Amino acid sequence: MFMFTSLQRLHHVVRSRDHTQKPTKGTKIKESCRFCDVSVSPGFDIVHEDDIFVAFRDRNPSSVHHIQLITKTHIDSVQSLSTADVDLVKSMERIGHNILDSLDVPPHQRKLGFHIPPFNSVQHLHLHLQGLPYKSLVRRMKYPVVQGGKGSVKGFSWFVNVSQLIELLERRRCVRVMPC
Ligand SMILES: [Zn+2]
Ligand SMILES: [Zn+2]
Repeated sequence: MFMFTSLQRLHHVVRSRDHTQKPTKGTKIKESCRFCDVSVSPGFDIVHEDDIFVAFRDRNPSSVHHIQLITKTHIDSVQSLSTADVDLVKSMERIGHNILDSLDVPPHQRKLGFHIPPFNSVQHLHLHLQGLPYKSLVRRMKYPVVQGGKGSVKGFSWFVNVSQLIELLERRRCVRVMPC
């Protein structure tokens, strides 16, 4: 009986130590998030992985190629980013293009961008990497890239492409559905 409880306690200590040793670079892993721990979850078709990012094929693709590139640590959305994250987003852009290169997607058939809350389906920052065309008009409508008018980087849209996002962060502007 004594042995049993000691082992249980030991098991508990080891488990909690494991937990605190998870890589928490800036932001924590969220237990309830289905994009945290993608690299160890079964069923994800992973196309790229390094220390900071993981990319996997979307299970319900909107276009010929549709991949999600995410950070391993939990970041809620584009609205959690600041000027300090410009390099992070530029790395995502570079890795994204490398993946699309490997799939032979020509430059004019690429779309790389993020949904803006509350239009993000998963609350964990994910860059959509798409090789066009879209499978339907309805799918195309989910990812509109709208250029800004005078004084704005982006027009009215629930989607921001990666270069618009970099420019907004560099200008210290917040990312919104309304023109910004
Ligand atoms: Zn997450
Ligand atoms: Zn999205």
